[in-house]
Amino acid sequence: ETINLNEFFNYILDRFDMMLKTQNEHASSDNNQHIEVATTKKTYTIRREITKRDLWVEIDQDKFMQVIDNIMNNAIKYSPDGGVITARLLETHNHVILSISDQGLGIPRQDLGKVFDRFYRVDKARSRKQGGTGLGLAISKEVVEALNGRIWVDSEEGKGSTFYISLPYQPIEDEGGDWDEA
Ligand code: ATP
Ligand code: MG
Repeated sequence: ETINLNEFFNYILDRFDMMLKTQNEHASSDNNQHIEVATTKKTYTIRREITKRDLWVEIDQDKFMQVIDNIMNNAIKYSPDGGVITARLLETHNHVILSISDQGLGIPRQDLGKVFDRFYRVDKARSRKQGGTGLGLAISKEVVEALNGRIWVDSEEGKGSTFYISLPYQPIEDEGGDWDEA
């Protein structure tokens, strides 16, 4: 299906903002019943640097949402409480580039190439506590590559990580114009 990546990315991020809001409401309005929710869930701030332009791309919404959800959930999971997550979307002349940066644990240099492998998790002990199977990024990679796109990561241990996705993109030329005049 053809979707406007700009609108769709904002929509996915809105959901994360909403989750945070619901979580805060539980935390402030509840008694003991929800204390666990309040103390175990993390807070985060999402900054958006997203182009205002419509970017029409041919992608499967559900699959693509799964990819972004996983990267966002990782950014939250592998960051300390209160971290800032920056979501960016821009276009080049023939690609759209989407990125998600966190200020979390980061990934050691020697593991950078492996995080997209099935079941690979950095530091088994650290990861086990966080829960998860180590499949999220492997699935993300499959989905992105099926679209002839690329996914990669840039990270510095102790400082944070940025995950990038680039997809081939052909801007739709202004319709009408030339034809009407011809
Ligand atoms: P799942 O996504 O299947 O629930 P997972 O999050 O462990 O489990 P992936 O999403 O595939 O699996 O990530 C693989 C590993 O890469 C993680 O276990 C973690 O060690 C590392 N990783 C992924 N994202 C980040 C991040 N933003 N910061 C630091 N480490 C990360
Ligand atoms: Mg994950």
